[in-house]
Amino acid sequence: MSADDTPPETDADTNADADTTTDAGADTPAGADPHTLSTGDDEAEGDDAGETRHAFWADRIADEVEARDPEDPIVIKGGVSPSGIPHLGHFNEIIRGYFVAEVLRERGHEVRQVFTSDDKDALRKVPRSLADADWNIVGLGEVNAGALGRNLGKPYTTIPDPFGDHDSYGEHFTDLLQQSAEMIGVPVEMESNTELYAEGVFDDAVRHVFEHLDRAREVLAKYQDKVDEDYVPFQVQCANCGVLTTNITGYDVEAETVDYTCAGLEAGGQHIEGCGHEDTATFRDGKLMWRFEWPAQWMTLGVDFEPFGKDHAEGSWPSGVDIAENVFGIEPPVPMVYEWFTLNGEPLSSSSGNVVTVKEVLDLLEPEVLRYFFVRNPKRAKDFDVSTLDQLVDEFDRFERVYFGEEEEDENLAALAERAYPMLVDEVREERVRFPYTFAAVLGMVDDPDLRRRMARNEGHIGDDTPEWAVEDAMKRVERARRWAERMDNEYNYRLQLDLPETDFDEETVAALDELAEFVEAGHDGEEIQGEIYETAKRRDVETGDLFGAGYRLFFDQPQGPRLGTFLGELDTEFVVKRLRREA
Ligand SMILES: [Zn+2]
Repeated sequence: MSADDTPPETDADTNADADTTTDAGADTPAGADPHTLSTGDDEAEGDDAGETRHAFWADRIADEVEARDPEDPIVIKGGVSPSGIPHLGHFNEIIRGYFVAEVLRERGHEVRQVFTSDDKDALRKVPRSLADADWNIVGLGEVNAGALGRNLGKPYTTIPDPFGDHDSYGEHFTDLLQQSAEMIGVPVEMESNTELYAEGVFDDAVRHVFEHLDRAREVLAKYQDKVDEDYVPFQVQCANCGVLTTNITGYDVEAETVDYTCAGLEAGGQHIEGCGHEDTATFRDGKLMWRFEWPAQWMTLGVDFEPFGKDHAEGSWPSGVDIAENVFGIEPPVPMVYEWFTLNGEPLSSSSGNVVTVKEVLDLLEPEVLRYFFVRNPKRAKDFDVSTLDQLVDEFDRFERVYFGEEEEDENLAALAERAYPMLVDEVREERVRFPYTFAAVLGMVDDPDLRRRMARNEGHIGDDTPEWAVEDAMKRVERARRWAERMDNEYNYRLQLDLPETDFDEETVAALDELAEFVEAGHDGEEIQGEIYETAKRRDVETGDLFGAGYRLFFDQPQGPRLGTFLGELDTEFVVKRLRREA
């Protein structure tokens, strides 16, 4: 139980800053809810006696939502607290909510997917980096950091946008998040907490809490220390200095006002000074404390389902259920706890800079692959590793082939593919072409679009009857894989030189290259060429490294390069032969 009654930042960012446990199901209090992290089969869920067995977890959640006989539109919610950079971690809730929304829509329901921005919360810590409106990640040194520092303790929506393109810092962040959702093709309705309070949407909830303060304290005291008889789960923004204060000295339910003396705020381990200003504010000037605000959102927005990370499962979810049932008298939404994923093996964290934005990810892979990342069991910890993105893409491609019956798979995965694959793509198209990602990266070494096509044809990825749209779509992956190679500066980050580079080889090397040219001309695949490079070097008494070096110089004008034989095997034979002979 927390002695601190300030809201835990309610987002993936906080998720991220916490330690990520990788053994799913290790430390969640049993019985907190039916979806606490638990061990189990990766895909097969809902196999309790009497339940329909579903291949896709979203179907099981949809069953539970439907079992409550909700009124349309069904409301699915997620939430975020603005931070420095809207990043992939924020998409756990958005994409998981999307799958459940899609299932319910398929079943004939009208569904709203809303995402609340907890932008009336106080800025507690100056982030290390920010994203500008064009998605450039910038360090604080490049913006007006002082302005942020002076605004600690104030609501995000009252802090000037460091980039000056939105009305506030909160709005800047929320806009980027909405853009990210659109990029993935998940239509969410963003709801600003600031606006919900200002428009009076929370009026009933706030009044209800003030009318039942004894009850509210009694329930809260089970989860939080320092709840005395004067405690009020409400804070207001000081009219003088702008800092949020919890020092409520009186209230008037009839007039819907509170009295306060500005006493500052505890934030990020430090105390932000209040100014001592005494005043009266309206309910709409303030906000409920997080443990009440969350259930108040459920009540006012009519939330039927909400996924959340395990920090909430252990923290504000149990109190939220209690407050919903015993203070507000409402039924809490169907919950779903998801396991966080790590990025490159480390927890996602804005403060440490270990983040990747949706924009960056979509520069590297297709939206359907990113959606696929969230299809698998949400209870299982995963790592999003940019250096091995090729494996994630391969996994998606296989999932797709399983859906089209082009690859045998075990029953569970086949059933999952059957169910979920259509929700990953904009259009189910059997004639699509997918280049294996690393092959796309090899094509990315070549600038000439016609040569790329010939190479893809040589390797059998494109046939005579492949529709043009499929080729064009497939070629987009080449650009993505090329960006990946550049970003990782890995073994695919080379450029084929279409013009003969200047060279100065000794006699033995020249002879070896000529022999190799003959071998290639005779018609051999990449593996055979690779082996022959070693053989030729041995025969001609050239250092193996020198012969490979000569090849890299000829083809890339670099001292090193990718696996040479394999690469040459994928190129045009005529081109390779001429180049080995230093003719073109
Ligand atoms: Zn003040």
